[in-house]
Amino acid sequence: MTAQTTHTIETAVFDLDGTIYLGDGLLPGAQRLIETLRATGRRTVFCSNNPTKSTATYADKLTGLGIPTDEAEVFTSLAATVKWVTTVMPGAAVFPIGEQPLWEALSAAGVRISEDPEQIDLVISSYDRTFEYRKLQIAFDALWFHKRARLVATNPDRFCPFPGGRGEPDAACITAAITAGTGVECEAVFGKPERGLFDIISWATGLDPTTTVMVGDRLSTDIAFARNNGMISALVLTGETDRAMLEAAPAELQPDLVLESIDELIPLLDSGRQEIRTSS
Ligand SMILES: [Mg+2]
Repeated sequence: MTAQTTHTIETAVFDLDGTIYLGDGLLPGAQRLIETLRATGRRTVFCSNNPTKSTATYADKLTGLGIPTDEAEVFTSLAATVKWVTTVMPGAAVFPIGEQPLWEALSAAGVRISEDPEQIDLVISSYDRTFEYRKLQIAFDALWFHKRARLVATNPDRFCPFPGGRGEPDAACITAAITAGTGVECEAVFGKPERGLFDIISWATGLDPTTTVMVGDRLSTDIAFARNNGMISALVLTGETDRAMLEAAPAELQPDLVLESIDELIPLLDSGRQEIRTSS
């Protein structure tokens, strides 16, 4: 390998919502960019903090939108959560406040699930549209009354954006409810921008962060994820972040590249990291 190729973008990691599609509509330029990346021998990886969908669901959605995708190309906060549970707390009885894909991912990894506050070693807070008082009570008893459980969250997001500016309350709201009642803070949060998800993607794909661009629409998760893990960062203005938010953001969340449309990345694919940083 020559010095020239080691400075070229070899892998592109994409956020999904607000980056590749918005709701059920593909965003302009996404298909052209993915096709160009693949046609030039580059690796494409998709990742999402949303723990309410399985990797198979995302692969099917992308494929249905015209971007043929294998499940192995998709990574979510669920994978990082399950990896943490099985390595840091093997054998633990876990109470997941989350939807079916979280329960299934834990069960598939052999994790013991319990709703008995006297048995629960770990409460996992997640994006849960079936959240109810009963679940809050179980978490409260396990964390505060029995003072035995630990608390983690699948992802740090406050809300999940929808087309037209609406959204749904996400995991941070559930975590806040639990912490408000018990005084127990989350000791680990998975998904972007944390290291755990990057480690799993890196291990599975063998990517080199110095030749990888991370493309996303949210500064606090996508751009922070790139910066925390040594990847080139590209913000696309088709989702959550607009120019005013970007200008108001602190220096540590400023991206290397700002794209109005995601396919503006195409002419930059053969640029080196240094060239990208100095040109933006
Ligand atoms: Mg997004």
